[in-house]
Amino acid sequence: MRMLLLSDIHANLEAMEACLAVAPAHDVLVNLGDVVGYNASPNEVCERVRAMGGTIVRGNHDRACSGLIDLSEFNLIAAMSARWTQVTLQPEHLDWLRALPQGPLRREEGPAAEFVHGSPRDEDEYVLNASAASANLRAPGHADRIFFGHTHLQGGFAYEDGRVRTLTPTFPTGEDVVEYTMPLARGERYLINPGSVGQPRDGDWRAAFALYERDGDAPGAVTFYRVPYDVDATQQRIISANLPERLATRLKLGR
Ligand code: ZN
Repeated sequence: MRMLLLSDIHANLEAMEACLAVAPAHDVLVNLGDVVGYNASPNEVCERVRAMGGTIVRGNHDRACSGLIDLSEFNLIAAMSARWTQVTLQPEHLDWLRALPQGPLRREEGPAAEFVHGSPRDEDEYVLNASAASANLRAPGHADRIFFGHTHLQGGFAYEDGRVRTLTPTFPTGEDVVEYTMPLARGERYLINPGSVGQPRDGDWRAAFALYERDGDAPGAVTFYRVPYDVDATQQRIISANLPERLATRLKLGR
C-alpha cells in the first residue's frame, strides 16, 4: 500500500503541480487540509484537488475561507487573504469546502491510520513540540500512524514507552528534487507531517509532500520530498491579486 500525503496546499497552483509531476505511483491519496488561503489560485487548486479525489480533511483556512468561522482569530494578513479567497472562489468550490469533513478520519481498508489537520484531540491544535505530541500519542483509542498538517513543518514525532523522539528529515539545500526515506519501527507510534505543499515554514522554500508505504505486518516507511517550483510565478499572482506583499516574500524564505 502506497499512500500519497499532501497538506497545506494553500492555493499555490505552481507548487501543487510541481509536486504532482514528481509524485511516485500510489494506491491512495490523502489530503490533510488547508486547500486554500494565503496564495492566489484557489479556484484552480480546488478544481484539481476535487478531480483527484481521495480522503480530504478540512483545515482551519478551508473553514475560514468558506465562511464557516469568523476571522477574529486570524492575524491581519491571514484574514485579508481569507476574505479575498471567499469573494474569489466560485460558489461550487465554496460549497465543497464547507462540506469537507472534520478530522480525525480513518480509511476503511488497508493498514490502520488516522488523518487530522491539527491533532486528534483538536483540529486546530499546532503540534509543534514533544509535549503536544506526547499528549496526543499517549491518548488511547487512536491508530499507531497519525498523519497531520497545520504546522507547515515536515517531519513529526515517534512515541514509545512514554518517550517522544522528534523526526526531522534532512536534505541537501539547493534547487533539486530531493527525498529522504525514514523507516518506521515496530512498537513505536507516530505523528507524521508531510510538510506544506504551498507555504513551507521550515526555512526550505521547496514544496513538501510525503509517501507512506506499508505492506502486511511490516512497520513501513515514510519518504519525505522537497520539490522546487516556479515561485516567481506564484509571487506574481499574489501581487496581481493585490494580496499583501508579505505573502509573496515569505514563499522564497520558506517562512
Ligand atoms: Zn495551513
